[in-house]
Amino acid sequence: MARYTGPVCRQCRREGLKLYLKGDRCYTEKCAVDKRSYPPGEHGTGRKKASEYALQLREKQKLRRTYGVLERQFERYFNMATRTRGMITGEALLQILESRLDSIVYRIGFASSRPEARQMVMHGHIAVNGRKVDIPSYLVKAGDVVEVREKSRELVPFRKALETAGERTIPEWLSLHEDGLTATVVNLPPREQIDIPVQEHMVVELYSR
Ligand code: SF4
Repeated sequence: MARYTGPVCRQCRREGLKLYLKGDRCYTEKCAVDKRSYPPGEHGTGRKKASEYALQLREKQKLRRTYGVLERQFERYFNMATRTRGMITGEALLQILESRLDSIVYRIGFASSRPEARQMVMHGHIAVNGRKVDIPSYLVKAGDVVEVREKSRELVPFRKALETAGERTIPEWLSLHEDGLTATVVNLPPREQIDIPVQEHMVVELYSR
């Protein structure tokens, strides 16, 4: 399945939730979810009660769209999650999604949205443990050091990230270094440290049908 190229805000309206895909705009009154809190389309305001399947599907789509992951890759992550020992499958799935390099770059605050973080990674601005990584789906591990590469540090988004380093709220499982453009992944986050309003058990139920 190809990557979605339609109106970005439509995805948030479909899920009835802010997915924060447009960076700073998401925090302004221009946000489409704030203006029209009903699903897009002709039947947006008159939908009937959703079936259990439809509810499970929505939870999965919420996750997929939040992290910008295609269907097949999402299935791969789910299969990985089922094989993770000592963790509930839904929670393992969320942890895997959070450990994607583009998501980490967003969480550190180098980018204002995951799509922007994805671009930064693809354009070769990010290094992990001192080596360039340009694959947004690269899975980061506990102890890894993620940084903006030396040659990219003067670019506008990173200068901005540096200026706001002191003001940003960074999850406790990441530790920002003094230079403001390097961070260590202290540990991968448990469920209670992932602020995504999704009922992941419903995603597990969907795939268990
Ligand atoms: Fe979603 Fe951001 Fe668009 Fe609001 S502005 S609908 S949060 S992408």
